[in-house]
Amino acid sequence: MSHTIELKKASKYYAGNDSVSMGFSRIDLSLDMGEFVAITGESGSGKSTLLNVISGLDTYEEGEMFVCGEDTTAYSTEDYERYRKTYIGNIFQDFNLVNSYSVYQNIELVMLLNGRKKKECRERVNELIELVGLTEFAKTKASKLSGGQKQRVAIARALAKDAPIIVADEPTGNLDSASAAIVMETLARVSQDRLVVIVTHNYEQAEPYVTRKLTMHDGKIIEDRRIPRNTKASDPGQDSGNAVSEPGSISRGAEVRLGLRNAFNIPAKFMLLFIIYLFVATAVLGQYASTKNSLHENELLGYSTYFLNTDPGRIVVTKEDLTEFNDSDIARINMTENIRTVFRNDLAIDKGGSLNIAGAFIEGPVYPIGEIAEAALTYGRLPENEREVVISVDPSSDAYLNISDMREKLIGETAFINGMGDDGRLSEKPVSVAGIIVEEDVDADINGSYNGYSKIYVSDEVSRELLTGMMASASKTVINYGGTKVINDYSRTIYYSDKVPKGKAYIFDTQAYYYKNGNAQGKSLKLRISNKYYEASGKYTVDKVVTDKNCRELLGLKKDSYDEFSSAIFINPADFRKLFERENYQVSAFMENETDSEETVAALNEKGFRTLLIKDTLSDATDGFNFVIELISFARLLLEFIVLFFITYAVIRLIMKSRNEYYSTLRILGANKSNTDRILRVELVFMMLIAYAVDIAFAVLAYNRVINIEQVSKLLNFLSIPDFAITGAILVVMSILIANRYSRKIFSRSAMKVFKEEV
Ligand code: ADP
Ligand code: MG
Repeated sequence: MSHTIELKKASKYYAGNDSVSMGFSRIDLSLDMGEFVAITGESGSGKSTLLNVISGLDTYEEGEMFVCGEDTTAYSTEDYERYRKTYIGNIFQDFNLVNSYSVYQNIELVMLLNGRKKKECRERVNELIELVGLTEFAKTKASKLSGGQKQRVAIARALAKDAPIIVADEPTGNLDSASAAIVMETLARVSQDRLVVIVTHNYEQAEPYVTRKLTMHDGKIIEDRRIPRNTKASDPGQDSGNAVSEPGSISRGAEVRLGLRNAFNIPAKFMLLFIIYLFVATAVLGQYASTKNSLHENELLGYSTYFLNTDPGRIVVTKEDLTEFNDSDIARINMTENIRTVFRNDLAIDKGGSLNIAGAFIEGPVYPIGEIAEAALTYGRLPENEREVVISVDPSSDAYLNISDMREKLIGETAFINGMGDDGRLSEKPVSVAGIIVEEDVDADINGSYNGYSKIYVSDEVSRELLTGMMASASKTVINYGGTKVINDYSRTIYYSDKVPKGKAYIFDTQAYYYKNGNAQGKSLKLRISNKYYEASGKYTVDKVVTDKNCRELLGLKKDSYDEFSSAIFINPADFRKLFERENYQVSAFMENETDSEETVAALNEKGFRTLLIKDTLSDATDGFNFVIELISFARLLLEFIVLFFITYAVIRLIMKSRNEYYSTLRILGANKSNTDRILRVELVFMMLIAYAVDIAFAVLAYNRVINIEQVSKLLNFLSIPDFAITGAILVVMSILIANRYSRKIFSRSAMKVFKEEV
């Protein structure tokens, strides 16, 4: 029967820079199961060196060593590693316990690292805890134990591997004598079916328990004394595991569990990591959103020659068959997700209007009143009837200078809405100003096309009047004066006045001459109007002929207006509407959130509407450079992420410094590099996910306006679910890279070196 360990003339030398020192020389020694061996001797005599060679931590230079009859002369590094893993349970002087783990978890850790399933561990761990007499401390954190208790945990842990050989260098070196006695007694107990080898300079402590004493001097064994087993050294433990079989490797499931456990088990570290990762997750999300924001704004740079109102949230909608819109069409558009309001008289928007009111001159595009919220108003209130309007001015504009002086007077003041540039009356009746919005950069998002303009928010009714007026200006008119046709294609011909009865027309004296002898009264007048969109005609009787003398009396016109209107025809408002008012065949829908325009347009198309997204009609101010701008944006984003990565890495490294010891311990206890890599990765990725989840929760609250931060809500508009998935993936990749880099750093030294330094 071969010895468990057998050394034959084995020598160990340390090669220094210019000298060779001797660890031990020409030692013959055989050790067997059931022995409790104490190696003693003065300092420097070679005790630790011998123990290290026996436990496979060091190699020898001369002679031979047999392990259970197997020659180790030709062992490779891997062979030694396997040998250590299979045969050696090491009890470290400084315990190498994971302080943040409980007694139970410390022992379980070794079993998990050696490939045991969590369930398999329970019974055995409890058994070992009982064996070292720590049952009542099973759930206590290692940091709370006394030195002696820690050393007993270290023993239990060494035993957890079921290795046949237990080695310990000065296991009681840091303990008081009472604790030392308990440790010795425990070792004696476990030595009954194992080989236990300890180094001690305090042999008296060990004497009552050991079965063999080796005394070293100057690298030689000068005394080898066997001592009969002291029967009072208690009964053998229930422990019987000494079948030598190579342990397995930690399972993936156990790696994940350890990673998760580590994320939480040091509260201070958890908080620090959480804060850092929260910062990182928020920064990544913020940078991502603001890049999308600036790309979006870039897209909006431009001008339109067709549309005065280039609001990026505006969609021009027509029906598939180009027929008129009815109420149910409008309702269907209104019910589309992300549509805030539908403006029926779309054409009015692009004509714009002006208000010459209380000494201030307001002009700009017309907007639907449904656009504004009470909160947006700076002065006044929201309109309460169809004839009230709200105006919006840029504080840097001339209009504002007037308004700021006059706003008291302005609110409630009435005026007609004229065309842009004060060009002719458009509204049928006056409107009054109910509220004023002072808005920085009224035109900023609409750029170019109406710099310096204000906005006039009007009701559907007023916009209809405006549109009718606009159509009258834009139509070609064929006037049939009782057989004589006159065509006016360049200026407005037809006006209306309450004073003209229905079916009648007032013409001016200059036109009377189209009739025989200038006798127009009671004669017929036919009007035929046509514009881009429709044609219409009406038949009237000339009722009055207007002269510069009677124009005030007949139409309420000032004398000097006579020249302006002298080629005009006045009819009753109802007749006027009959000619020019049409149902809408084109409307404008305004979006709640312009960044979702693609989905909104798709939804409208789905419902059978044709759409034109106003922002797509803009001539690109940056024509051709868009691609370059996008490229630069992405490059900048990437750079920001890289900088963020290194900053984060530097901070994480500081925080994780305290974890070096933990990961070294894992290595010592049998984990290989990929095991520790994965455990670390789980820990860091999981922390990132927690931080990201908090960010998402915050985003959801901000999105639902539970938290109201203007800037955040604005950026959130640029993020949809796929964007959150992308940023999530970026963060996960980032934390994996951080984990990899960190583990490369702490494990750049070889496993062996880490191992030895720890011993
Ligand atoms: P002990 O544990 O009995 O105090 P050691 O085994 O540590 O003694 O040391 C035995 C001899 O080997 C000493 O002379 C010591 O200087 C030398 N020695 C130990 N470790 C090293 C090393 N890593 N490099 C060089 N010499 C060493
Ligand atoms: Mg020593």
